Amino acid sequence: MHILLQAELGDFRNRVTIYTYALKMSFAAVMLSSLAIAVLFLPLDWAGVLPVSLENAIIYGVALSWLIGGIVSGVLALVAGYAMHQLSVSRAEFEQLSRTDMLSGLLNRRAFTEALDHVAGPACLAIFDVDRFKAVNDRYGHACGDAVIVAVAAELSAAFSEDSTVARLGGEEFGVVVVAPLKEERVARIRAACNRLAERTIALDGCTFNITVSAGIAELCDGRSTQAAYTAADKALYLAKTLGRNRVVHEDEGLQRRARLSQDEINVDTRSAAIH
Ligand code: GH3
Ligand code: MG
Ligand code: MG
Repeated sequence: MHILLQAELGDFRNRVTIYTYALKMSFAAVMLSSLAIAVLFLPLDWAGVLPVSLENAIIYGVALSWLIGGIVSGVLALVAGYAMHQLSVSRAEFEQLSRTDMLSGLLNRRAFTEALDHVAGPACLAIFDVDRFKAVNDRYGHACGDAVIVAVAAELSAAFSEDSTVARLGGEEFGVVVVAPLKEERVARIRAACNRLAERTIALDGCTFNITVSAGIAELCDGRSTQAAYTAADKALYLAKTLGRNRVVHEDEGLQRRARLSQDEINVDTRSAAIH
């Protein structure tokens, strides 16, 4: 409805649209009333109830409709135009708020998931999670925890180029769509971001401390659903945590590890079968 209105009447967030709309509306109202007057006066003249000649009646009628009708419809259209302007502005603000994470200023999970559906070109999804974040909250307080979230958000925004999408998925978890032609390049950027975060010293209320971050990566290939990519990146992140944190794991690494583990299990089974 809003888009249709915008396509037909213009974008009401722009004030010029209000004046153009008011002008168009009052012109249309005056033209319509002039036509109605001309049509209405014909039978009145025929019935002989016009106090002046038909020609004069039409001239006065049209002149009055331009003067009074034009002013009245212009004012009404301006009022309606301003109301639409206010609605468009608050709608745009609401949309912006519903897509933004208030603490970090990054996109929120909802907006990020939407963006994931529109990724074009070779890209991957990286999920970053601050290591032992609960300990930061417990030791330095919730405000310090919030400051860490803000610092990580700023670092990730700076680390990734314009065509990448950075979002806070919730808590101390961040999502980034990294766009680059080669997988190695994408992984290298993610590692570099984690390294920069580990090197950064966060200072707050006289305390200084360092944090580390783990990341899980999944490829965003054609035909792969957003949910499947999230699940694969989450699994890779889980592996990064299990392997000791402060590391980046690509889903392929996870698959290779699992394949090695199952091969080891087969080897153990065949060895124990040989012993028995
Ligand atoms: P791991 O290394 O396994 O990720 O451990 P962790 O302690 O980082 O993970 P865990 O999930 O146990 O803790 C996350 C904590 O983040 C728990 C929750 O209280 C805290 N948290 C979630 N949202 C916010 C927030 O907006 N601000 C602050 N300060 N803390 C938050
Ligand atoms: Mg964590
Ligand atoms: Mg977490």
